[in-house]
Amino acid sequence: MRAAIITIGDELLIGQTIDTNSAWIGAELSKAGFDVYRITSVHDRREDIIYALNEAAGKTDVVLITGGLGPTSDDITKQTLCEFFNTHLVINAEVLRMIEEMMTQRSFPMNENNRRQAEVPESCRILKNAVGTAPGMWFEKEGTIYISMPGVPHEMKYLMTELVLPELNKRFTSQTIIHRNIMTYGTFEAKLAEILTTFESGLPENIKLAYLPASGVIKLRLTGTGSDYNSLSNLINEQVGKLYKTIPEFIYGEDEESLEMVIGKLLKSNKKTVSTAESCTGGEIAHLLTSIPGSSAYYKGSIIAYANSVKTQLLGIQEYTIEKQGAVSEGTVKEMAIGARKLFITDYAVATSGIAGPDGGTEIKPVGTVWIAVASENEVICEKRVFGNDRITNIKRFSLAAMNLLRKQIINHSPSLLDTHQKK
Ligand code: AMP
Ligand code: MG
Repeated sequence: MRAAIITIGDELLIGQTIDTNSAWIGAELSKAGFDVYRITSVHDRREDIIYALNEAAGKTDVVLITGGLGPTSDDITKQTLCEFFNTHLVINAEVLRMIEEMMTQRSFPMNENNRRQAEVPESCRILKNAVGTAPGMWFEKEGTIYISMPGVPHEMKYLMTELVLPELNKRFTSQTIIHRNIMTYGTFEAKLAEILTTFESGLPENIKLAYLPASGVIKLRLTGTGSDYNSLSNLINEQVGKLYKTIPEFIYGEDEESLEMVIGKLLKSNKKTVSTAESCTGGEIAHLLTSIPGSSAYYKGSIIAYANSVKTQLLGIQEYTIEKQGAVSEGTVKEMAIGARKLFITDYAVATSGIAGPDGGTEIKPVGTVWIAVASENEVICEKRVFGNDRITNIKRFSLAAMNLLRKQIINHSPSLLDTHQKK
């Protein structure tokens, strides 16, 4: 079961409109068991549309097309489809009636352009569009189904959900596709790929691995294809189990889980609380932790200790520590964490002090250096990390590093949590 998607519209190629239709259709087709073989975006240009149609013809079972169905002269999809399917435009009485009704309802007079929307290629089957004026069109040629829909996302989604997907599901005996996402933090893509070389070469033929990095987090997506859901699911579980054994230090969650979501779950089930003392991250960690609904159960508050005076006056850091080691140092960040834990009366406190840049770096402490600390009842753990030169990226990376240190410490204190939260 192969499918291709063609999106038509000048606006897509000049970056004016993001092609969200392809992403949505791709996800839906994939859920329905289709292998989406290609996505093509083309201009509202006859030869480009014909080229894309010919390219998909014969190689796919279904071609989904959006765009170019508007009433104005720049939209030429219908005429081009007529040429491709060797047919011509005729007025469809039912579509004309629907458009007239819609225009009356909206108190707009009908004009020639509206009337033109009721013209459809003679050989197609009409997909009635209850949420717009341009109908969808269903063609079949030499074993391939072609479905043309309006570009307006909510109209396309209406036709797909109400008419297209139900019919495709009936027509094609469903192939099963299962995606599993394993979330990792703490390494970079090239390194992870090196560690996973043996795992990857040992994957069964029908399971593929993809690396999807996004600002410090790398999502590992396993995609399995098969005919029987249960046996495919078992096979994927087996591979996920192997991943947990190979890279336990990097896996923090599954699917779309973020570090702050995982921390929230860990703290909640352990009935523990946390506070923050942030210098270089300026409240980013507090923001991330509190973006999780229900975080008031475990998050108490923060001191954004940007100035040294705030560090000493509110968090109780000794002036001597800052003088001797500097604000960006092991001593300072440890005292920040201890101070916040005491002030907010929490089980844990996380602290950061670093140089986000672009200025302020030295040879010993270059831009991108951060000290992070996590204080708990009996100890304070601390880590120095060095990232890059971009300020905003650094703030994000510092925050993730600090949250990951917190996550590891909570699990260290209560290893049984790992079974509940990480090994589903
Ligand atoms: P059309 O059917 O070509 O008249 O498209 C109508 C409107 O739908 C365009 O002006 C865009 O705003 C939007 N649109 C068209 N194609 C896409 C697409 N692939 N993804 C998202 N929006 C689109
Ligand atoms: Mg258009």
